[in-house]
Amino acid sequence: MEKTKAGGNGTDSSFVTADSPLRIAIPNKGRLMEPSLALLSRAGVSVPQKNGSLFVSSDDGRYEILFARAEDVPRYVESGAADCGITGLDMVEETGAGVQTLCELDFGMCRVSVAGKKGMGVGGLEGKAVATRLPNITRKFFGRRKISVKIVEVAGATELAPYLGIADAIVDQVSTGATLAQNGLVEIEKVLQSRAVLVASAASAEKCEALRLSVQGAIAADGKAYMMLNVSEGDLKQVASLLGGMEAPTMMPLAEKGMFALHSVVARRGMESLIARLKEAGARDILVLGIERIIP
Ligand code: AMP
Repeated sequence: MEKTKAGGNGTDSSFVTADSPLRIAIPNKGRLMEPSLALLSRAGVSVPQKNGSLFVSSDDGRYEILFARAEDVPRYVESGAADCGITGLDMVEETGAGVQTLCELDFGMCRVSVAGKKGMGVGGLEGKAVATRLPNITRKFFGRRKISVKIVEVAGATELAPYLGIADAIVDQVSTGATLAQNGLVEIEKVLQSRAVLVASAASAEKCEALRLSVQGAIAADGKAYMMLNVSEGDLKQVASLLGGMEAPTMMPLAEKGMFALHSVVARRGMESLIARLKEAGARDILVLGIERIIP
């Protein structure tokens, strides 16, 4: 990376990189933190142990990771404090921040739902109290339904609010539904579907394009492997028909006359039975390799 002299004292510390690192804000705790770090690592962004710090540089210095609350990520990105960020779509909705989704990620799936006692309907909440950590989403939802509710803002453990008598219903994230069930609540209606997303501002989207491609490529490669095998001309057609591939398997003649190599992307799920069928059809010398990224 090209270095430019920033200060005038001539010491090493006075040099900064000409290409400033891409600053990525990610959740500092909760369900989204570990999967965010794992996805970034698969996308080639290797982040050292954070050791309690809120800010770390990637091992190669090309990225800076800002650990922030998931609900603060959209604002940090909107304001330019970070170039892009990973957070939940629900957090983007809740903050109403001016950010755009660069790509949807493969974790953090949940729904934001209205929940309450069994038999309760959304219409029956007119004039009632609804506890939530997501007041803006809640306000909009009931506003659209023209149902007037009193919103009780809580910082967490929303499911306790009906039990404590401070609300008649709640609006909260639901993943498996186990927490609702434990607290004697049922989902009444889904407000929105959420998942983790990579977001950027309009101003920073272009700067984040290479990262977006890597992240999308890493997600696309998940659960897939690259298979190479050899087959004789006589068995070629049948073996090739077993291999789907992204388009069709790649076919190459081998130096040995009448022999071919087939290469293909295959799903890891069901690989054992595929290998058995390939062998039966005449495939041999089967190699299975991991794929880091698939970029269409
Ligand atoms: P569950 O019991 O799996 O339905 O999870 C419900 C609890 O986890 C609630 O306290 C939710 O606020 C929280 N939760 C579920 N999904 C998410 C998510 N994607 N992001 C943040 N919190 C979540």
